Amino acid sequence: MNREAFMGRIADRAARWDLLVIGGGATGLGAAVDAASRGYRTVLVEQSDFAKGTSSRSTKLIHGGVRYLRQGNLPLVTESLRERGILLRNAPHCVHALPFVVPARSIRELAYYGIGLKMYDLLAGSLGIAPSRFLSRGETLEHAPELAARGLRGGILYHDAQFDDSRMAVTLAQTFARLGGTPLNYIRVDALLKRHGRVRGAAVTDTETNREYEVDSRAVINATGVFTDAIRRMDDGDCARMITPSQGAHIVLTRSVLPGRTAIMIPETGDGRVLFLIPWRGRVLLGTTDSPVGEAALEPRPLEAEIDYLLTEAARHLATPVKPRDILSVFAGLRPLVGAGKRTSQIPRDHVVTTSASGLVTVTGGKWTTFRRMGEDAVDRAAEVAGLETRLSLTEALPLREESSESPDVVRAVREEMARTLEDVLARRTGALFLDARASMEAAPETARTMARELGRDQRWEEQQVAAYRELARGYLWGG
Ligand SMILES: Cc1cc2nc3c(=O)[nH]c(=O)nc-3n(C[C@H](O)[C@H](O)[C@H](O)COP(=O)(O)OP(=O)(O)OC[C@H]3O[C@@H](n4cnc5c(N)ncnc54)[C@H](O)[C@@H]3O)c2cc1C
Repeated sequence: MNREAFMGRIADRAARWDLLVIGGGATGLGAAVDAASRGYRTVLVEQSDFAKGTSSRSTKLIHGGVRYLRQGNLPLVTESLRERGILLRNAPHCVHALPFVVPARSIRELAYYGIGLKMYDLLAGSLGIAPSRFLSRGETLEHAPELAARGLRGGILYHDAQFDDSRMAVTLAQTFARLGGTPLNYIRVDALLKRHGRVRGAAVTDTETNREYEVDSRAVINATGVFTDAIRRMDDGDCARMITPSQGAHIVLTRSVLPGRTAIMIPETGDGRVLFLIPWRGRVLLGTTDSPVGEAALEPRPLEAEIDYLLTEAARHLATPVKPRDILSVFAGLRPLVGAGKRTSQIPRDHVVTTSASGLVTVTGGKWTTFRRMGEDAVDRAAEVAGLETRLSLTEALPLREESSESPDVVRAVREEMARTLEDVLARRTGALFLDARASMEAAPETARTMARELGRDQRWEEQQVAAYRELARGYLWGG
């Protein structure tokens, strides 16, 4: 992917697009891939980097959502399990099956979770990964020896899928480009353009050069996650609020906390939430929380209370409590929940597609797992609004592949994956920031040097990048 070449396409004043997608997270990229696969002339703009927002801060699960089963949201679970099956088939380089153990501390829990997970198997149907099964106490500890043995009665083994969210975003951007689409990071939408009262594109700024452009498009899809309402207000200053942002924090731990290959799912914490301990890229991911927040932010910070909660809950279930030196990184993300509720954990995770009076299509809510379906629904609607020739979605059978070359890591990220800043490489192309914030700070100067060579930048740029990166990464260190 070559940003300069893509910029040339939006600088062309005569260019008229079928679709403009705002937002380069899971939802926007999903819509862009869907539109390009149907042959619509599509451009996607992202104000920062691909997956800079919520889409790099998930629990990295492609799952039906056992929690939603408990809430009785069978349509969402069924749809998610179907999407899980499609993604395991279409993106095997990035999505793989993962075994989970659910510990049970009473016969009642064993029966309750066991029946629930059998239902999960049933809803997955032929797209199921492997049937769930009851485990004796001994078998449970064989799968997850890190669990506290005291009071353990047995467990259930079930399967879901795991992926790498930021790498999936790169895969989607590359797939979109391969299909003829134009993915652009560091392009911000400042205003929507209207003609005869209808939305017909956007005024955008290239945040690298501060140059402004007008993008003329027959339909516009707003896929901006927790920023959805800000774009909707550009269309209609009086529109009612749609999104309740809810923060979720994670802790990344050394592998010694969970050395095996099996993840642990605690279906009910002290306050009725779900807790995961998941092996992830040679580390362990512990999460997550669900706390309402007032404001949308691109760089949310975990609250001390969230980290304390995660450590306390983990300690209730592990034989050995997590030690401060086990913590390699902490991070938080904001869920774009649609609607309101007494508790954010009770707000449904279904996605919605809306169309404003002037034709702005908004797609939001949902999950990473359902991005393909969200994209399909949004493009169906946008094509209808814009009066585009009807063409069916092809993404159900579309292979999602990464472009891979022999270039070393950092060089490939710049040349083929549109990494523009040190943070893009260390946070979302390599994952170093999330895997070990301190180690990533040490790698910063050398990485910036290689990037500067590739991008033709000077030493001042290098120094600014290192300073900005270190400032950011400090927020991912726990206790300092
Ligand atoms: C803690 C947590 C754990 C989760 N775990 C899972 C999980 O395990 N599995 C799962 O399926 N789902 C999970 N989810 C849900 C999933 O991560 C989100 O549903 C999904 O990432 C939302 O993607 P999005 O594209 O809608 O939003 P985002 O990823 O936030 O993307 C929106 C983008 O719009 C851009 N934007 C905003 N304004 C503008 C503008 N003016 N111009 C240009 N661009 C703009 C932003 O910069 C941003 O990058 C989790 C969510 C959280 C918070």
